[in-house]
Amino acid sequence: MKKNMLVMAAAVCMTAVLSACSSGSTETTAAAADTSAEAAEDTTAAESAKEESAEAADAGEESTEAAGGTLIMVTNAEFPPYEYHENNEIVGIDVDIAKAIAEHMGMELEIQDMAFDSLIPAVDSGKADFAAAGMTVDPDRQQFVDFTDTYAEAAQVIIVKEGSEIATPDDLAGKTIGVQTGTTGDMYADDIQDAEVQRFNKGMDAVMALTQDKIDAVIIDREPAKVFVEENEGLTILDEAFTEEEYAIAVKKGNTELLNSMNEAIKELKDSGELQAIVDKYIAAE
Ligand code: GLN
Repeated sequence: MKKNMLVMAAAVCMTAVLSACSSGSTETTAAAADTSAEAAEDTTAAESAKEESAEAADAGEESTEAAGGTLIMVTNAEFPPYEYHENNEIVGIDVDIAKAIAEHMGMELEIQDMAFDSLIPAVDSGKADFAAAGMTVDPDRQQFVDFTDTYAEAAQVIIVKEGSEIATPDDLAGKTIGVQTGTTGDMYADDIQDAEVQRFNKGMDAVMALTQDKIDAVIIDREPAKVFVEENEGLTILDEAFTEEEYAIAVKKGNTELLNSMNEAIKELKDSGELQAIVDKYIAAE
């Protein structure tokens, strides 16, 4: 089963250099390999950023020393409205939440962008402090990382072309389905009877393949699906979701100190209404 392969690949990653294994599965495409090279560069950047901040703290140059230093967040900024690029900046719901959490903890925030399937290895290896990436709480992932309290309800939905014969999740049997590599959509698509799964580095690339009739459907998270369907004519989201899920932030397994501080901050953001205000800034009420 593919799901187990993904987990096993992640296990191998625990002992190997990140760049050597970040694409995980044996079905890695050339394009995916490119992205892992980028991820490796990003990781190096994360490391040097960490060193720099340590140096700065040593030299007492910045307030980060007193405030407790810099938190390194990793994400995959191809996932609007949670994280995406805008004017050379990474913005989105997760970014605002992470900023608010860092502020609550008196820390600076540094964001590194990498392939989605490199995020858990980056946290697991200690190259990053946490991953905030619209990441679904999943028992297989919990073997490698700990999740904070959840901060959003989510769902995997199905995007098809308007007029498609696919009307419900059951109709996906035997179809060609596009997913983003290493996502829960990827795991679930693999269990669909007789379906052929095509994996892409970015959800948007899967959507492009759908518009070009190269695949029959895309399984992806609901909020990015809405953005992609809005941006591309002739697509629609099926009413019936494929699965319901919840998002949380992933930290290194056993780092209870960070986990507790983040949970405290998340609780505060929920209680004060700030979390809802962040969501409302990016997602229009229906
Ligand atoms: N929620 C999905 C997952 O955790 C997809 C997240 C993403 O693509 N950023 O696998």
